[in-house]
Amino acid sequence: METILLDDNEADLIRAAELITKGGVVGIPTETVYGLGADASNPVAVKRIFEAKGRPADNPLIVHLADFSEAKKYTSSIPELAYRIAEKFCPGPLTIVLPKNGSIPMITSGGLDTVGIRIPSHRVMHRIIELSGCPIAAPSANTSGLPSPTSASHVMDDMAGKIEAVVDGGQSEFGVESTVISVENESSVRILRPGCVTREMLLEVCGDVIIDHAILHELEAGQTAASPGMKYKHYSPKADVVMVEGNISSFTEYVKNYMESGVYSLIYDCDADYFPYRYMTYGSNSSEQAHWLFRRLRELDETGAKKVFVRAPSSDGVGLAVYNRLIRAAGFEVIRL
Ligand code: AMP
Ligand code: MG
Repeated sequence: METILLDDNEADLIRAAELITKGGVVGIPTETVYGLGADASNPVAVKRIFEAKGRPADNPLIVHLADFSEAKKYTSSIPELAYRIAEKFCPGPLTIVLPKNGSIPMITSGGLDTVGIRIPSHRVMHRIIELSGCPIAAPSANTSGLPSPTSASHVMDDMAGKIEAVVDGGQSEFGVESTVISVENESSVRILRPGCVTREMLLEVCGDVIIDHAILHELEAGQTAASPGMKYKHYSPKADVVMVEGNISSFTEYVKNYMESGVYSLIYDCDADYFPYRYMTYGSNSSEQAHWLFRRLRELDETGAKKVFVRAPSSDGVGLAVYNRLIRAAGFEVIRL
């Protein structure tokens, strides 16, 4: 199959929407990362997403809608707290897990009786949902296990020949996937996957916000994850990633012992002036690090990096999302200096 590259003009968005209504799979820009979109209510189309990604069947897909008022078409009940959260954060990088109804096939929800609902704010994704009239199932548009794509060319690298089209909408703004939450009771929620809607932001509308244990800890054998994606090795480039926690001088001392070829460091922008070894940088604050992380991991592979020491990000605010992706990219290999 030839994968066509579409622009983000109206004529091309109409084409993308038509491909989706006919059961096709299209790479679509969103404000988080690029998604692999298909009609969420069409099990045959959704199966093609799983095949193109090589995604395990028990890893559910998020369903994207044009407006939160549409959520009742696909769910069996919506708690009052979900409405208050949606009022504040939708459209935006937030997914709310709700009990699903029969209009969402089991293949879409990875066999669960719940569905993650997200209202994307990106103009292109929003317009394609409107034009298609479909709920759009869209996981990140990477091959399962690799870093998520933040540009159309990343999607082409992973998906050319496997899907109908990719819409080029430029570089993704946030750079990490949406925050995923479930509603615990009338006043509290649980973060299943951290993102750019942070715990602190959610506390403005919730009495309590629980951070799920699996966000920072590896699951033990036999444990089940509330967020199935958390149980897989994920976000990893081909290079071996090691996360190193410490200040820049102890980091520099540490990597000095590893000077063979193919060894790189991924450090903060502000570290670069003092760092004498091969490196790339990924920003100076958590939002910049979220924006650049996946792109840098892909670039390190292109450069031929074999091993990458990453100066660990802060785990506060948006930093928790960056930390969560990196610790998985590193297969939980963390050096604490
Ligand atoms: P991706 O679409 O690749 O960003 O992955 C979506 C992730 O959201 C999955 O791996 C799950 O961890 C989480 N998720 C989606 N739907 C649900 C759900 N119904 N219940 C719990 N977690 C979900
Ligand atoms: Mg993903």
